[in-house]
Formats: sequence, C-alpha cells, structure tokens
Amino acid sequence: FAPWRDPASAPFIEFRNVTKRFGDFVAVDDLTLTIYEREFFALLGPSGCGKTTLMRMVAGFDEPTVGEVLLDGQNLAGVPPYRRPTNMMFQSYALFPHMTVEANIAFGLKQDRMPKADIATRVEEMLALVKLTPFAKRKPHQLSGGQKQRVALARSLARKPKVLLLDEPLGALDKKLREDTQFELVDLQQKLGLTFLIVTHDQEEAMTVADRVAVMDQGRIIQVATPAEVYEQPNSRYVADFIGDINLLEGRITVCNDGFIRLDCGVGGGTVEVDQTMDATPGENGWFAIRPEKMTLSLDPPENPTVNCIAGDVWDIGYLGDVSIYHVRLAGGATVKATVTNRTRLVERPISWDDKVWLTWPRDAGIVLTR
Ligand code: ATP
Repeated sequence: FAPWRDPASAPFIEFRNVTKRFGDFVAVDDLTLTIYEREFFALLGPSGCGKTTLMRMVAGFDEPTVGEVLLDGQNLAGVPPYRRPTNMMFQSYALFPHMTVEANIAFGLKQDRMPKADIATRVEEMLALVKLTPFAKRKPHQLSGGQKQRVALARSLARKPKVLLLDEPLGALDKKLREDTQFELVDLQQKLGLTFLIVTHDQEEAMTVADRVAVMDQGRIIQVATPAEVYEQPNSRYVADFIGDINLLEGRITVCNDGFIRLDCGVGGGTVEVDQTMDATPGENGWFAIRPEKMTLSLDPPENPTVNCIAGDVWDIGYLGDVSIYHVRLAGGATVKATVTNRTRLVERPISWDDKVWLTWPRDAGIVLTR
C-alpha cells in the first residue's frame, strides 16, 4: 500500500499553498501537502510548529488565511465543521461525564436525527469495534484512561467519517498502554479502511502508526516520507536530529562523484566515505550523520584504519537493558554515541570507562547532509 509512489493516485486531502496567520504570527507558512485515501498520516514536530493548526483547517475549526484545503477534490472553504466528512478526536477526549458510554457514542448520531433503531445498531457496532460492549452502561468516571480513550474513539467513528483527525490521542496514557494502543489504532484503521491523520510530537508514536510522516518546523514541512525513510535518509540535520538519536560530525567534502562521497571531518572524525549520490561540490561543508547502532565498537584497532574509523575514549556508558549506549570522546573533543546490543546476561561489560576504543562502520551506514 503506497499510493504516494503511484503517479495515477488521486489526492484525498490537499493543502495548496496554505498560510495561516494569527495576527502577525505565521503559524503555517505557504505549505503544500497531499495525503491519500486510506493513508495513516502523521504530522510530527515540536510544540508550536503548526501541526494542530493544520489539522483544524481540515476539520473546519480554522480557515486558511491564504491558499486552499481540498478533500476528495472539493474545496473546503466556507464548509462548516459539521458538514465535513471529518471527525476530530481530542487529547482530553471531551466525554460528557453525566452520560453513559453508549449515550456518549450515540450523541452525534442523535444530533444527526438518525432513527433510534439505527442508532442502537450503530452504537453496538462501535462498542464491539473498540471492545467495550460490557461497559456500555458505565459513566466515564468508572472507566480507566485507556477505556475512556476508546469511548472517545468510538464516538469519533460513530458517524462514519471519511477522515479521522487525531490530536495527540494517546497523550494521556502511560507508556505501556500507549504502545499497545498504537497497534490497536493501526489495526482499526486498516479494518475500517479510513484515512487517519494524527498529530503528535512523539516521534516513536508517529513512526509506529503512520504510513508516512511529515516532519514540521515553524509552520513548514521539512520532509515527508515513510518512517524508514525519515530515519535512514533524513534530508536535513533538523530531521536527522528530531527523529531518534544521531551523531553529526561536521566536515569538508573532498570528493563527490556519482554514488560516492568523501568527507574530511578533521582530527576527531578522520576521513569518511559514504555510498551516496548528491548534489555537492568539493570544498563545500557537510555533516556526516550516523545512527549510534550502525557503528561497531571495538577494543582492537581495525586492520585497515584509513577511512570510516575513528578512535576515542569511553567517558560514559548508559545501560538501558536491551542496549548500552557508549559515549566516546574523540581526539578533537567531540563525542559520538555508539549503541551495543546486550545479547548476553553479562552484567560486566567487556568495554568499560576510560577504555580506548575504535569505532568503525561500512560505507552504506551513514549519510552526508549539506543543510
Ligand atoms: P502543540 O504540540 O504544542 O499543540 P502545534 O504544533 O500543534 O503545537 P499549533 O497549535 O498548531 O502548534 O500552534 C502553532 C502556533 O500558532 C503556536 O505558536 C500557537 O501559539 C499559535 N496559535 C495557534 N492558535 C492560535 C490562535 N487561535 N491565536 C493565536 N495564535 C495561535
């Protein structure tokens, strides 16, 4: 399922050169984006980057100052929220405390004047969907956080929207429950075949649930790609740094041929060679970016240590259970992190504080970024 790779795919949600200003403040800045039907799409970025504003323009709670938002080919300008085939689920859930679970789910359907018998059927269907049938008669205060979240989800889905808008939907849940619920959300989205748009500042969450992720900064989109692409091939230091942990070593590009780049990272980083095709000229500045888990840490110097090899001293070790993170200080003073998987029950690590170590990696492990 990758409609974004098929030029024949019709756009479903489209932002066309959308700018949203609040007074003088530009919350969304000339943004263009296409989302496809049945996609699970995540808007990811730090607080205040404009994610929620973007979503509210789909829901109809905000209108663009400039530009257009289209849904299924229809320009949404002036269409009030309740006439849009969208529904938004808020982090606070906004359940009615005095109403039972089933009444909460039925609320929107009653407002739509759906016949009573149909409402009952739909509510039953929704309760089964979110596995809350035994809880139909309870009130919100008699539910756990996860159950409340599912009531809110059922209520948002009851009117069968074409697009479900999720604003930090799992923010109130603890880590374990949040992780389980992420998989349930994906399951639900696939079962229903709906388009889900989620806003989150949690990169792991975005990566877990989404088919594609838009990484945002100050009202702009910096990169739109699959989770694996934003992780493995970030287009900038901003994205590289925002998604997961990464080492960035500044250097000067000395060779740039088709499919091959050499970068001189000075004393600390040595010479780096990367399999990569990019538009750059020798002499230009660049950053070598490599994930901590892609480096191999060793107490012995490698046999042919000319490229993709740096030496340093261990100055800190973080034990996380599944992995240990080694902080290695290089000759120039810069530090890099390397992750080692803890495959055995050994409590004493063979590499320890102050050890001199060598870090090596293959040519396809890292990338060079120029912005
Ligand atoms: P968060 O993760 O904190 O919710 P966000 O990326 O969703 O952040 P938005 O809620 O879209 O950010 O807000 C983007 C910017 O626009 C923020 O700086 C915010 O203060 C501003 N903003 C949003 N709504 C309004 C408003 N109604 N009036 C004035 N400024 C607003």
